[in-house]
Amino acid sequence: MSKISLDRILQSQGFGSRKYCRALIEDGGVAIGGEILTSYKTLVETDGLVLTVFDEEWTYREHVYIALYKPAGYECSRKPSHHPGVLTLLPEQFTWREVQPVGRLDHDTTGMLLMSDDGAFIHAQSSPKRHVPKVYQATTAEPVTQELVDQLLAGVQLHDEPAPLAAVTCIKRGEHQLEIVLEQGKYHQVKRMLAAAGNHCTALHRSQIGALTLESLMIKEGEWCYLEPPLLALL
Ligand code: URA
Repeated sequence: MSKISLDRILQSQGFGSRKYCRALIEDGGVAIGGEILTSYKTLVETDGLVLTVFDEEWTYREHVYIALYKPAGYECSRKPSHHPGVLTLLPEQFTWREVQPVGRLDHDTTGMLLMSDDGAFIHAQSSPKRHVPKVYQATTAEPVTQELVDQLLAGVQLHDEPAPLAAVTCIKRGEHQLEIVLEQGKYHQVKRMLAAAGNHCTALHRSQIGALTLESLMIKEGEWCYLEPPLLALL
């Protein structure tokens, strides 16, 4: 149980600067349980708190954990240069909360992208010691052969890596379709592994992280959802 002043609560939830949040409260823009609170000094219990801000309900969250179905044409970097950033697909509050992608997908890769404002979570998920399998569906320029599958399973040497990198599993899903599971998250790893094995990736989609499938989240391309503890446990 912890009580925090209303202006701090609004700021922590990404509604803007402390000054802006105070003005928002004093202007009558914030209610709790149907009661408009106009003193920003009001101490409020954060456990189970639901705020109404500009007539929209917001559940208080110390941190947010999000899965985004990333479309092609968006960059994961904090300062995107050639395409819009993935944060533009989320409510503005998440930019204020400094929500960041957990790892990266290339601008032309689609599929599941985790995002959070919890530094410890981002760090833990990105650690090379965590062998969380990530499942990718790759479309290839050349037909998928048994030799390609065998090579990817045996390991291919990428020029800046000390040792060959191997897929955990690799399954031919169609003439030009390959499902590949990786436990590392090296730069352009799928594309570079396919190139090193003599093929070329023309499209890439991440369908699963750990035991969490994008399909089970029932979100469409460009949409996002919160990940509550039972789903976080699948990562
Ligand atoms: N491997 C790639 O080559 N690109 C991605 O976006 C993800 C994995």
